[in-house]
Amino acid sequence: MLFYSTNNRQLRIPFREALFQSLPADKGLYMPVYIPELSGDFIRDLENRSLQDIALEISSALLGEDIPQAKLEEIIRDAINFGVPLRKLDEDVSVLELFHGPSMAFKDFGARFMSRVMAYFAADRGDALLDVLVATSGDTGGAVALGFESVPNTRVTILYPRGKVSPIQEQQLTRNAGNIRALEVDGTFDDCQAMVKQAFNDPELKGLLNLTSANSINISRLIPQTFYYFHALADARRQGDHEVAFSVPSGNFGNVGAGLLAWKMGLPVRYFLAATNANDTVPRFLREGHYDPRPTIASLSNAMDVAQPSNWVRIMDLFGGDTVVLKTLLRSIAFDDKETKSGMRELYESYGYVACPHTAVAYLAARQQRKEDPGDYRSIVLSTAHPCKFPEAFDAEIASQMAIPEQVEALAERESKKEPLSNRYEEFKSFLTDYR
Ligand SMILES: *Cc1c(COP(=O)(O)O)cnc(C)c1O
Repeated sequence: MLFYSTNNRQLRIPFREALFQSLPADKGLYMPVYIPELSGDFIRDLENRSLQDIALEISSALLGEDIPQAKLEEIIRDAINFGVPLRKLDEDVSVLELFHGPSMAFKDFGARFMSRVMAYFAADRGDALLDVLVATSGDTGGAVALGFESVPNTRVTILYPRGKVSPIQEQQLTRNAGNIRALEVDGTFDDCQAMVKQAFNDPELKGLLNLTSANSINISRLIPQTFYYFHALADARRQGDHEVAFSVPSGNFGNVGAGLLAWKMGLPVRYFLAATNANDTVPRFLREGHYDPRPTIASLSNAMDVAQPSNWVRIMDLFGGDTVVLKTLLRSIAFDDKETKSGMRELYESYGYVACPHTAVAYLAARQQRKEDPGDYRSIVLSTAHPCKFPEAFDAEIASQMAIPEQVEALAERESKKEPLSNRYEEFKSFLTDYR
């Protein structure tokens, strides 16, 4: 498969280049030159397919020319090694739990797939070691750290701001095998990001190390996120439902973008809902027609505190800029923190279900949309993280009902390893070169 930039459709580069570059030089985003449609037989027969079968079908259609079938199978078996249960709340609404991977967030899908695909191409190029640099404010870093852990020929360096990540997030960053190194920076997330950017632009470092980024807009992270949309429909059919709509907690709009990509590949869907917190750039755009980002607002669902969603250009690109067609399929609704809290409480009181604030936002959107579009279909709410990652969002009663997953206990037993770093680039650079 070849890839173009959303800023230049004439550009044509192979998958491996799009993979290692993450971003084209023209600051667009990579997209496949064509989107393969899965066969009608495959879609009709979904309920007889496992998540791994589905993943293999999709990745072969997109990457079959770039990665041999047997290798793709191995990558999928290794990367998607956890369950994705669809839980019925009642006759209308189900929750798709995407948080059973090692970092307990849906970002495990993207990070684990990307790490193994990168390791495959790095080995193929004969490169001794692939150096992955990541700046994180929380969730992405944990997924990347745990996603690359013990992947051969890779080494990850994570920079995170001291005191700005939650205790569980810090454990995920600092309690890993030897190929993951955590640097606790005396500075802000922006300082971390600036140092990583400078490293990529440093010719001397580029000569010494084989650097790449694990950027969240990497196309290889979008592909595995299509898998679970098909899987959810398969499970819904197995549970006796035939039509589905998805409600997706949205920040950078990668997750809902993957859903729309799945739709382009042939997934039958009634509609998609992109649910946001007070950062409502997209809901306002779909309602009023002006794309007018405002300053970012901090919220309870902080992994969605994004005022300029980076994947929005991919969604516009998928629809050729045609917002009329886009609006028939995609709706977007925003909820503030007060509403989010009431959503968390309603989930707990009506169903005994403890959901993270991101999931609660999508739940509220699903309920609201059903009032406008009632019918015989199932609303599937994507649950993007385990609630234990956001303890400060819950009142004491709900918090006490929260199950502590085995991932947390397993990490607690491991030794913590981190190194302090100032926010001076020269210090970061010597760290990278000294430990070569
Ligand atoms: C990253 C994240 C989101 C937002 O996903 P996007 O793909 O950026 O829209 C939602 N919930 C959680 C828990 C996340 O970590």
